[in-house]
Amino acid sequence: MNAKSLEKEMIALRREFHQIPEVAFEEFKTSKKIKEYLEQFGMKDIKSYASTGIAAVVYGKNPGKTIGVRVDIDALPVTEENEIPYRSTHPGKMHACGHDAHIAIGLGLAKVFYENRESLSGNVKFIFQPAEEGVGGAEPMIKEGVLQNPTVDYMLGCHLWPEIPSPKIDITSGSTFASSDVFQLHIKGFGGHGGMPEKVKDCVYAGAKVAAALKELYFSAPYEKKTVISVCSFEAPSAANVYPASCVIKGTIRTLSEKIRAKVKEDIRSLVTQILDALNIPFELTITPEYPTLVNDDKLLSIMESCAKELFGDEQIIHHGPTMAAEDFAFFTQALPSCHVKIGCGNSECCMPLHNPKFNLDESAIVTAASLLERMILELLKPE
Ligand SMILES: [Zn+2]
Ligand SMILES: [Zn+2]
Repeated sequence: MNAKSLEKEMIALRREFHQIPEVAFEEFKTSKKIKEYLEQFGMKDIKSYASTGIAAVVYGKNPGKTIGVRVDIDALPVTEENEIPYRSTHPGKMHACGHDAHIAIGLGLAKVFYENRESLSGNVKFIFQPAEEGVGGAEPMIKEGVLQNPTVDYMLGCHLWPEIPSPKIDITSGSTFASSDVFQLHIKGFGGHGGMPEKVKDCVYAGAKVAAALKELYFSAPYEKKTVISVCSFEAPSAANVYPASCVIKGTIRTLSEKIRAKVKEDIRSLVTQILDALNIPFELTITPEYPTLVNDDKLLSIMESCAKELFGDEQIIHHGPTMAAEDFAFFTQALPSCHVKIGCGNSECCMPLHNPKFNLDESAIVTAASLLERMILELLKPE
């Protein structure tokens, strides 16, 4: 069994998917193409989840555990600026996060395992997940039962990462992606004449105080690990001589533990209440949860590290540390023992960050990722 033998096919697949990027829950062409490819080499147990998601199972000849492999399939609302023969044909949409490569990895692995199912003890469930970018496709797929029939014992995933040179592999233990919550604060002032401040409830002043206090809370870093509190939007539309009646502040909270996450939310609530109550200005604060922290299972990660060392040598293993970006693979890590690693896809030509209109990747990383996941699955399915 060797994923490397599919190198050319996986790269061609990545380029095909690169041309048809679709955003969250609109991955209709993508989903159809994934299904067709899987059927073409004979896979039969293919089910739909969460509208555009797909799960396909390779059943080994002998009984054993079931390993889940999750790849995300959505693109971004970005206009591609790369001059490449396989550039996006969908205006305003682009695979700027490398999920096109993730699809190719998933399909390549599915083919390798399907062709070798006779020698397999256990099953491999390939989960092609929509809407990773902000909206969240993992949670609805789990709620719809993607981890059952057959029940998944362990979950694996990866993300190609341009800041890491190919073919290095990041082995970071514990929390590797941050939790994400968004907050919205609506401050309800009383508008009026710019020349008569004594007659208004000044929501611009109140909002500025809150924004400054949240930044100071971030700077003072009272939490154990690196925690982010970012005010990213401040809207108080008005004219130069008119106090607006209300203002809206929006931002994001990122943490590396669920305990700190709860504490930060509590602190923000009490800080906002304290400032605005003192000014006697009514407000409405909503904090909406997005993704939890992505926490790697220690045992699985150490097996992954051994597999990576065996395949690529000790010198290719790095400990990049956590990122404050969020990843909804985190919902799988909450549901069952899981492991997610970053695979270097940067080189001297491919150095643009993820989500950039000129992002591209070193395609050799596709083989690196597929080979590593293949080895890891075989290790986990070794008959006891
Ligand atoms: Zn992304
Ligand atoms: Zn991504």
